[in-house]
Amino acid sequence: MSKHQFGSWLQKEGIQLTEKQEKQFEVYYRMLVDWNQKMNLTGITEEDEVYEKHFYDSLTAVFSHNFHNVNGMVDIGAGAGFPSIPIKICFPHLKVVIVDSLQKRTRFLEQLAGELQLQNVDLLHGRAEELAHNPAHREKYDVAIARAVARMSVLTELCLPFVRRGGTLLAMKGSTGLEEKEEAGKACRTLGGKWLDSYSLQLPNEKSERYILRMEKIDSTPKTYPRKPGTPSKKPLV
Ligand code: SAM
Repeated sequence: MSKHQFGSWLQKEGIQLTEKQEKQFEVYYRMLVDWNQKMNLTGITEEDEVYEKHFYDSLTAVFSHNFHNVNGMVDIGAGAGFPSIPIKICFPHLKVVIVDSLQKRTRFLEQLAGELQLQNVDLLHGRAEELAHNPAHREKYDVAIARAVARMSVLTELCLPFVRRGGTLLAMKGSTGLEEKEEAGKACRTLGGKWLDSYSLQLPNEKSERYILRMEKIDSTPKTYPRKPGTPSKKPLV
């Protein structure tokens, strides 16, 4: 997907990029590739691929959820900024908090947010299992979002504690999306969630399957969750 195609595919979904936003994506691409020579940020570096598999893919989350009504969003395990930085570029009003357990990645994101002149992007270096118990972050966000971090049963435990009652967890999944949704029924019930829906799509050129799974937070998450770092993945709630 070339830069030009990127703009027209987004237009089909009702997103019209301004010149400033196009420029921000160009700067993002350049910084990603430059920093990737010094640290492992992504295996995808070819420009057309980055535009489709990182930038466009990140933005598919906004096709199924109304981001105009979102104020605070937390991105759990954002790595090189996906999906939250592309979403923030397109929805500048958002207050974004990015959590990642690898400090070199949060350092990259700090520089990136500066270069892109993004306001209201806070970076937290730490494990979701610990940060979710901090009263400043627990049940505080309209949306928690994550891509390529853990299977749905585990991801629910890492993300749902950050979501306020009435807010939404958006899980960005590949071809195993529906199977993972089935498996995460117990985690969803235990942690105060309720499935809303799942949105399926294919990447426009590359055609691989994607699912955006949406879970609403209907009850407070019991205080014992998330369990200590590593336990959600070692003993998933299945
Ligand atoms: N979301 C990005 C993407 O789609 O390109 C990055 C995906 S990468 C495979 C997973 C990221 O999640 C890594 O940067 C890792 O450090 C982070 N991560 C994994 N488990 C985590 C946890 N429990 N708390 C915070 N960050 C975590």
